[in-house]
Amino acid sequence: MRHIAIVGSGPAGYYTAEAAVKKWGENARIDVFDRLPVPFGLIRTGVAPDHQSIKAVARRYEKTAVGDTVRFAGNVTVGKDISIAELRELYDAVVLATGAPSDRPLNIEGADAKNVVGSAAFVGWYNGHPEFAALDPDLSGRHAVVIGMGNVALDVARILSKTEAEFAGSDIVAHALAALQASKIETVTILGRRGPHQIMMTPKELGELLHLERASPRVDPADLPPVEDDAILEPGLRKSVTLLREFAAIPESIHGEKPLSLNFDFFANPNAIVSEGGKVTAIEVERTTVEAGRAVGTGEVYRLPADLVVTCIGYQTNTIEGVPFEERAGRFANDDGRILPGLYCVGWAKRGPSGTIGTNRPDGYAVIDLVDQDFASSSRKRGREGFDELAEARGLDVVSFRDWQKIEEAEIAAAREGAPREKFVDVESMIAARSG
Ligand code: NAP
Repeated sequence: MRHIAIVGSGPAGYYTAEAAVKKWGENARIDVFDRLPVPFGLIRTGVAPDHQSIKAVARRYEKTAVGDTVRFAGNVTVGKDISIAELRELYDAVVLATGAPSDRPLNIEGADAKNVVGSAAFVGWYNGHPEFAALDPDLSGRHAVVIGMGNVALDVARILSKTEAEFAGSDIVAHALAALQASKIETVTILGRRGPHQIMMTPKELGELLHLERASPRVDPADLPPVEDDAILEPGLRKSVTLLREFAAIPESIHGEKPLSLNFDFFANPNAIVSEGGKVTAIEVERTTVEAGRAVGTGEVYRLPADLVVTCIGYQTNTIEGVPFEERAGRFANDDGRILPGLYCVGWAKRGPSGTIGTNRPDGYAVIDLVDQDFASSSRKRGREGFDELAEARGLDVVSFRDWQKIEEAEIAAAREGAPREKFVDVESMIAARSG
């Protein structure tokens, strides 16, 4: 028997569990821990609520989760309720699949002003993550600035632009839907420190901006390099840049039909946040040029009005006591997934925050191959039996997968018309819902 603990129940965690079942079948017991009482991590609280087709992958994780081989143990915070040392004592292998749930900080003057928020917090707010549900961003101003030119920046800009009707069929939480309906935002500026050829946005996501009911994307044609230069780009990026060219060709008359403007501001490096009475009012930006792929300041500085700033500049893994951490990369220090004997990492906690959900699948299979190579011939570990004893002694309130199914039933029952669910946004309500 092999006893495996996986910490984190998002895509990286469940692909790893799936790989363990494929490798060892009934000869393994796999416990998947999560600090929340609900599973699926990024699928539930990261993926945009209007991207339901991406969220459908959770059905695959459910297939892995039901049954006795794999067990969900929610509402358990590793590093607080149980230490890494204790988990390593109990299990043959501990795989950290904790993702990258915190914002990389924007280290510029004034960044601590009110209504300057990171994407982890903002996305967590509209997705009902208990840690961020109370964020309550002020949407009463006219100008929002989104920093970064990746897919998260696109998610945030799109969510800020959509009408109530466009959220039909989504699982955006009620508090966010109400706040967005009352929003007074008229411009959303997406700020990139480099140029159109350096964007990280993928074509499918970028193309959605052409179909928004009340918003229209604007690109200044002067920012675009000569079209022949696109030939050197890899095909995905070339498609994205072609879309930017489409945005640049939209006539003013069409923009005029839409009340909200989505402005792409390239070659614009944030310098400082300007605030009044502690709340952001503008962002100071330095014009850049791109030299050998790097943004170089030109000395030309200007201000953009900003009543809300959302930084979408990447994420980092949360540290856990006893686990070596690579500060610069914002992830666990690891050698291709190995951290210490019996301790591994996978997904964003291993690689840093890049790639699609599907990238985690080969990652999960690879880490299980490592565990298999490292595994001593027979286990002397106590696995879940030992964990259950410890949980009882500590009075931990462990939430099972069956419990989660009851919570989910209650969320589905509470859904507004056409929506898949209305999420509970605090841990207490989630736990209360498990008793039906
Ligand atoms: P990302 O793709 O790495 O983009 C981060 C952006 O922030 C880049 O444009 C980067 O510019 C900019 N940036 C970083 N530091 C900055 C600073 N100090 N000042 C100004 N700009 C700064 O990260 P992400 O958008 O967080 O996405 C994370 C991953 O999730 C990506 O792989 C993404 O594709 C994926 N994702 C996918 C979807 C989807 O498929 N629908 C949705 C959301 C996220 P530089 O390039 O100049 O560094």
